[in-house]
Amino acid sequence: ESKIRIGIVGYGNLGKGAVAAIRQSPDMELVAIFTRREPESLNPDDPSIHVAHISEAAGYQDKIDVMVLCGGSAHDLPEQTPHFASMFNTVDSFDTHAKIPEFYQSVNETAAKNNTTAIISVGWDPGLFSINRVMADAILPNGENYTFWGKGLSQGHSDAVRRVSGVKNGVQYTIPADAAMEKVRSGENPELSTAEKHRRVCYIVPEEGADQAAIENEIKTMPNYFADYDTEVNFINEEELKRDHSKAPHGGFVIRGGNTGDGNKQIYEFSLKLDSNPEFTASVLVAYARAAHRMSLDKQYGAKTVYDIAPGYISPRSAEELRKDFL
Ligand code: NAP
Repeated sequence: ESKIRIGIVGYGNLGKGAVAAIRQSPDMELVAIFTRREPESLNPDDPSIHVAHISEAAGYQDKIDVMVLCGGSAHDLPEQTPHFASMFNTVDSFDTHAKIPEFYQSVNETAAKNNTTAIISVGWDPGLFSINRVMADAILPNGENYTFWGKGLSQGHSDAVRRVSGVKNGVQYTIPADAAMEKVRSGENPELSTAEKHRRVCYIVPEEGADQAAIENEIKTMPNYFADYDTEVNFINEEELKRDHSKAPHGGFVIRGGNTGDGNKQIYEFSLKLDSNPEFTASVLVAYARAAHRMSLDKQYGAKTVYDIAPGYISPRSAEELRKDFL
């Protein structure tokens, strides 16, 4: 059987993670990485990897089965996903939750019109956490869902702070509130505001002469990302950033406390503890690239989310093997 031919669009943290994930997938081959920068400037760890400029991608339509889109959610994907879904099957990790409905609509329009399969908002949240929220809710209708993130570095939020004008570099950590977690695990289904569940802590390297108060204000008032949270902004220098904040761990918890029968408590909990958020997220993207390829062969075109995709589609194993060894 021939291998699934993969292209990667965007070579940041996720793009590098995608290269690593494809290496662990014997049924896939990496055809090329596409970038907006000078292709010669990327220097991927394996010099045999082909790097091309993003403007050349259209010429690869019969050479690539699925494009793994690794751009940022804030500015890249709203443009890149509809653009690439007009020519290729795609997977992306669009994670601005509040904008997923309109993102879905714009991607679905081009994908349906051009007979491509575009799986949107894949990763762990949105992605695996989304699946678990729905499972828990369907199984325990009498209950309450809770999602806690961290402690960890959030790529989406770090990406967002780095795009604020006057910011040279920066990272953002999300920290679950211990007291809130314990309450939820006890099954008392407390009412918790977002700010009661987490804090957001930013470490910012400002550009020289930048107005720090303006940066702090723009971050703290940024809709969807920070406005609803208890947000702390710290200014540091580049050296401190490199020394103390260069790892990208993350993780989190989806918990549902439910009641069945005569008030028996049922606690549903799913958690992830990740040394590398981008490598894990890219691993999810690459597994779902398998699904995008198979669904397009089945002519299931249009935009899809994790809710539309049966687990067997993402597995490299046969249905027989899954029934025998995993069921
Ligand atoms: P990133 O490293 O900032 O990369 C984003 C884009 O910026 C790349 O595609 C790349 O495009 C460009 N870029 C990267 N490094 C650059 C550099 N040194 N100079 C100039 N341009 C550079 O972002 P990321 O960490 O890969 O994350 C991408 C997105 O993944 C985030 O925005 C987040 O929304 C999403 N995410 C989702 C989940 C989830 O669970 N769903 C989890 C984690 C992250 P070019 O190669 O074209 O220049």
